[in-house]
Amino acid sequence: MTFDELPSPCYVVDERVLSKNLNVLKGVQDRTGGKIILALKGFAMHRVFSQIRQVLGGTTASSVNEARLGREIFGGEVHCYAPAYSDADIEELLPLVDHLVFNSVSQFRRYHDQVRSFEERPISIGLRINPEYSEVKTALYDPCRAGSRLGIRRNELDGVDLSSVDGFHFHTMCEQNSDTLERTVEKVEERFSDLFSGLKWFNFGGGHHISRDDYDIECLCRVIEGFQSRHGLQVYLEPGEAIALNAGTLVGSVLDIVPGESNNVILDLSATAHMPDVLEMPYRPVIQGAGEPGEKAHTYQLGGLTCLAGDQIGDYSFDQPLKLGDRLVFEDMAHYTMVKNTTFNGVHLPAIVLQRESGSYELVKRFGYETYRDRLS
Ligand SMILES: *Cc1c(COP(=O)(O)O)cnc(C)c1O
Repeated sequence: MTFDELPSPCYVVDERVLSKNLNVLKGVQDRTGGKIILALKGFAMHRVFSQIRQVLGGTTASSVNEARLGREIFGGEVHCYAPAYSDADIEELLPLVDHLVFNSVSQFRRYHDQVRSFEERPISIGLRINPEYSEVKTALYDPCRAGSRLGIRRNELDGVDLSSVDGFHFHTMCEQNSDTLERTVEKVEERFSDLFSGLKWFNFGGGHHISRDDYDIECLCRVIEGFQSRHGLQVYLEPGEAIALNAGTLVGSVLDIVPGESNNVILDLSATAHMPDVLEMPYRPVIQGAGEPGEKAHTYQLGGLTCLAGDQIGDYSFDQPLKLGDRLVFEDMAHYTMVKNTTFNGVHLPAIVLQRESGSYELVKRFGYETYRDRLS
């Protein structure tokens, strides 16, 4: 298959970039002894799990489904954290997980005995803490926002019997560098270190942009090593995005061009269905070969094919006028896309293609009517 023969729309995930990212993560693990696991929430393309498994020792889940995928297909350690579990979730999770992290003291108390009396495998119990410190600017992604429901604040732990707690977990970062982690860890130590004595591990959550070019690996290693040696605890990191950063594109085509003041172009893909963070974050994805509006000769407003008025990707300019059937390549579309996309309006899900080490393309999956039908009743 050549690039022009790829089905449109499709995600193209590049094994070579995955390898490059994984090598960076391997370096951190080898140097520090910290353990890095994959957050399935961000990237769960199981076709490439065997490749990721060569470097990462496990996964973290936020639901029974993710935990099962981690156990059955990825292998290694399975961690789970969710804002709340039901009785049925706990029943299903116990045979699947190695670490189970609770979001509140009440959930911890409710399920603690049941976890401890589970005999098939030892399960490590963790608590998610809310250090009330984060540098995330977007409220939608800030777990330390006022009134946040995520994690246990320091004052809620006063008088709580932590003797059966094996670890603490925090997740307060989003696409950030290690200087943010360093400041966060300082706050965590300031507020919580009097409670560390019975613990075995500490999970620094996700949001570490470790595979980004300007990421300060030295600082990350220093923070992990320092923390481990000060407290004698095993550190875990559970990034999602860092594994698949820049490892995939979304390829779509021009379906219609409606000349006028805004020069509207309709594509065969959708912001809301196929790259929802464009609207949620919001952010402007990079398109290969395109510029800011007005920067190049021909400017268009690119929109999706659902009926949502705001299904707009943004304004972009091109050297040549766009023509029907032209292919556009959206950068950095492997993470938080396939795991979030929908069939709103009945639009097809993009096909999934793997670009191999050799550069050749392999069609991994196409979705059709059945996918749409089977999610409804
Ligand atoms: C989302 C999330 C992650 C992964 O975050 P990335 O930004 O993809 O690295 C890890 N842990 C928890 C608890 C999360 O909610």
